[in-house]
Amino acid sequence: MSQVKVRFAPSPTGKIHVGNVRAALLNWLFAQKEGGILMLRSDDTDQARSTKEYEDGIQHDLGWLGITHQAFARQSERFGEYDAAANWLKEQGLLYACYETADELDRKRKLQRARSLPPVYDRAALELSEAEKKSYEAEGRRPHWRLKLSQQPVEWQDLIRGDVKVDTSAVSDPVLIREDGQYLYTLPSCVDDVDFGITHVIRGEDHVTNTATQIELFAHLIRFKGAGTMPAFAHHSLLVGADGEGLSKRFGSLSIEGLREAGIEPQAISSLLARLGTADPVQPKADINELVEGFSFEKMGRAPARFDPKELEQLNAKILHDLPFTALADRLAALDVDEPLWLAVRGNIEKLSDVSTWRDMIREQIDPVIEDKAFTDEAATLVPDALDETSWKELVNTLKEKTGRKGKQLFMPLRLALTGLPHGPDMPVIFQLIGPEKARARLRGERA
Ligand code: GLU
Repeated sequence: MSQVKVRFAPSPTGKIHVGNVRAALLNWLFAQKEGGILMLRSDDTDQARSTKEYEDGIQHDLGWLGITHQAFARQSERFGEYDAAANWLKEQGLLYACYETADELDRKRKLQRARSLPPVYDRAALELSEAEKKSYEAEGRRPHWRLKLSQQPVEWQDLIRGDVKVDTSAVSDPVLIREDGQYLYTLPSCVDDVDFGITHVIRGEDHVTNTATQIELFAHLIRFKGAGTMPAFAHHSLLVGADGEGLSKRFGSLSIEGLREAGIEPQAISSLLARLGTADPVQPKADINELVEGFSFEKMGRAPARFDPKELEQLNAKILHDLPFTALADRLAALDVDEPLWLAVRGNIEKLSDVSTWRDMIREQIDPVIEDKAFTDEAATLVPDALDETSWKELVNTLKEKTGRKGKQLFMPLRLALTGLPHGPDMPVIFQLIGPEKARARLRGERA
């Protein structure tokens, strides 16, 4: 078999969100696993709504997540190819002109419904004579163009859904070109998939019916070009909210940019999205490449995958708790956090920005909380001039011997005085980072 080549094909008409990214990630994982290529395709045939800013934003978001692509194409640069294919389809009688207005089509559908018939386009336009078409054009009507489906069942072996069968007699002939001349997504997508040698089309199950019509279109295009092969298909289930409702309605704001701004790390997103909808447990993976080995379409179910933002936040904390300083060196430098401080506090944060709370607790002035002045005053006299990793243990042991205190009674007054808080990172490291002068002052109850 030839090298695997897949594509992620967003329309640059908005920001990408977790739903799109799941499709991108599944394509990437499959390509990585198979030693293949991922193409990023900008589906920008809708020139009125597509923008360069959105296209750049999508590339930036994918790069941030580590979803790398090895090839790129832009549909707006390929209209010549689509025109050639459309002209050939017209010559073959496979793409036919229709003159109904939106209102007329609507009326037809209503009549069908009233008679309990499926709202499938009745192909009235196929009966139009040349004279009738001319008279419509003379009225100022422009045609839209429909693909003539075989009205036969179309079947394929879906890599996720198994055997799928769609009867195209229950599907309206799809409009490929609008009356203003704009190509809808179907034709350009198939022309590109054939021209670029896409071996597997991996996308959401909302495209299952499209796939049936596209399989027919692929067959025509392969005949037209005298080359190319039909890709294999994998339709993944869609994400739903934790309550089972549709994701796009309830969580429309879950754009990748929004998550980044909310302090979610890319690894939390990839770790979650790679395993949602499979029986495998979701595990924090600090490197996206670690997700490749466990990936397989066979593990993916047909049930909707539940996306819970809370799970994402928990995963985010777990990712941060184990990340080495080097993985975040630039961002930590911007927060003026060095390696010892990072290692001391990373286990106590949920978002990276939380690190500044602990940084300030250590470096800035705080108001100590004094519970037992005599005890903490005594502790202050026992703080040596230089602190190392054993200093905390020595201080606590000496105080234990001198006062007979133990457990919480021994530790808590010290923690409260030194940090102003009843909880936080482990004291041995914190004590050392606070330093002897500040530690003595805080134990004496002074703002320091
Ligand atoms: N631009 C299409 C979409 O976003 C691509 C679908 C496909 O993968 O074929 O729905």
